Amino acid sequence: MKYLKCWICGKKAIYYNPQNKKALCDFHFKRYFDNKVFKTITKYKMINKDDRIAVALSGEKDSMVLLSLLLRFTKKYGQKLFVITIDEGIGNYRKNAINKIKSFLEENKVEHYIFSYKKEFGYSLPEMLKYIKEPPCRICGVLRRYLLNKKSRELGATKLATGHNLNDEAESILLNIFRGKITENAKLGPITGINFHKKFVPRIKPLYFMRVKEILTYANQFNIPYSKTKCEYMKLAFRYKIRKFIEELDKEYPGTLDKIVNGNLEVISYLRKGIKGKVKTCKICGEPTSNNICQTCQILEKIEKFKFTKD
Ligand code: SF4
Ligand code: ZN
Repeated sequence: MKYLKCWICGKKAIYYNPQNKKALCDFHFKRYFDNKVFKTITKYKMINKDDRIAVALSGEKDSMVLLSLLLRFTKKYGQKLFVITIDEGIGNYRKNAINKIKSFLEENKVEHYIFSYKKEFGYSLPEMLKYIKEPPCRICGVLRRYLLNKKSRELGATKLATGHNLNDEAESILLNIFRGKITENAKLGPITGINFHKKFVPRIKPLYFMRVKEILTYANQFNIPYSKTKCEYMKLAFRYKIRKFIEELDKEYPGTLDKIVNGNLEVISYLRKGIKGKVKTCKICGEPTSNNICQTCQILEKIEKFKFTKD
């Protein structure tokens, strides 16, 4: 970044915001970032006094920045917090990520629970992909959401916090549109799942309005450890193409990300009316679903069917 000065105090800037064309020094950037996240938590009533919060922790920058902010928040306001990691079994990808952040968790005395696909479903993700010809991220996303909800509920969480950011949300909105599933956008938003189903732990996204670039700057500037290793399947995902496409658009037309996300927020209450009362209980596993059988059970059935016909 070329040498810029903070527009508030004149000190050397560490972040330039192309949306308002203003630069910030480390002190004012931190203040801006923290205030914006805490304002999001308050505006959307994400956290109550008695909440027990499960933080979904991948070990990458978003979840680590989220954890460090929520640790401060809960220390101040007294809520309980623990973290859950899902291990997909993709080589050492997740294990390496956990090693990177281990000492941070120990220093902060955070309770950490790890659940693996292999132990919970009988197969790691690469093993499942031998039997089922579907995009890895689609299967992985379904199974991860399922386990995070089930395990956080079983561990007594009243909220599940995820590190989703502005870029992720904009990608998800366009992904649903490009797939012809606009009504799926009803399930997005900064807080979801309230009153959807008694077994559904409401999800909160405190980093909802923060850009990837801001989160990266925050993690690097304030020495929050995180894993930089990317999953080998990521580049195969349709989402990855959309990510690159939106990044380009947002560079050329600053504010594109905000417009996509804010546009969805304007119509989300109408979209949600359409799904109200449509959440059922899976006939096989008893977890919440929009069909008679949840997507996780459908995936596991497909694998068993494939194995049966091959034997
Ligand atoms: Fe799973 Fe795809 Fe993420 Fe890899 S990139 S961990 S396959 S969702
Ligand atoms: Zn099920």
